[in-house]
Amino acid sequence: MVINSEFYRELIVELKAKNVTLVAVSKTKSVEDILELYHLGQRNFGENYVQELVEKHEQLPEDIRWHFIGHLQSNKVKLIAPFVSLIQSVDSKKLLKEINKEAKKNNRVIDCLLQVHIAKEETKFGLDEHELEEIRKATNYTNNTNEDNETYKNICIKGLMGMASFTDDKEIIRKEFGFLKSLFEKYSKLQTTNYKLQTISMGMSGDYKMAIEEGSNMVRIGSLLFGKRIKK
Ligand SMILES: *Cc1c(COP(=O)(O)O)cnc(C)c1O
Repeated sequence: MVINSEFYRELIVELKAKNVTLVAVSKTKSVEDILELYHLGQRNFGENYVQELVEKHEQLPEDIRWHFIGHLQSNKVKLIAPFVSLIQSVDSKKLLKEINKEAKKNNRVIDCLLQVHIAKEETKFGLDEHELEEIRKATNYTNNTNEDNETYKNICIKGLMGMASFTDDKEIIRKEFGFLKSLFEKYSKLQTTNYKLQTISMGMSGDYKMAIEEGSNMVRIGSLLFGKRIKK
C-alpha cells in the first residue's frame, strides 16, 4: 500500500463539497500505484513526460482521463493526440497550432488549458496577458476576416492553468493565484465557439487549500497522494 487512501477519501469529500476536480499527478509513479488509486475511484490523472504517459496509457484502463501537465514539445504532440483528455500546459500559439493539426488527423477535438506565467521565476513556462489576448483573438473564428479561421477548429480552450512561485511566502502565492483568477474572470466573459473558459487549474500539494480559497476549480496533487517523488 503506497497510496494514502485515508487522505484520498477525505480529500474527495472536501473537493466535492467545493466543486473542485482532482487531478492525481502520477509522474514517476508506477502503474501499480496508479491502479491502486484507480480502484479507489480516481479517474483523472496528470503526467509530465510524453514517453511515460504513452507507456502508462497502453498499460492502464481505457476510462482513465489523462491530463498532460508538463512542458510539451511540438514534435511530441502526435504521440498523445489520439487519447489525451486535456492538455493543461499550452504555452504558445505554435504549440496550439500543432495540437490542432494532430487533433484533426485523429478526427477529434482536443481540450486545452492555456498555461499562464504567474510566478516570479523566469524558468517557469507560460503565457503573459498579451499572449492570452492574442490567442483569444486568433481562435475567434466568428470573426470572418481572421486568417486563422481553419487553424483552430480541432481544439477547444477550456480554461487557464498556473503554477505559483516556489516560496514559503504565502502572501506571494496568494497574490499569484488571485492574479490568475482575475484573468480567468475577465476572459471567461469573452467566450467564442472554441474559447470557453470554465476551468481554472491551480493548486498542488503544498498550496491547494489556498488555491481553492482564491477560486480554483481544479487541483493537481501528486506527493500528498503518492508520497514524495525521487527527482528525475
Ligand atoms: C508535479 C506537478 C504537480 C504536482 O506536484 P505535487 O507538489 O507533488 O502535488 C502539479 N502540477 C504540475 C504542473 C506538476 O508538474
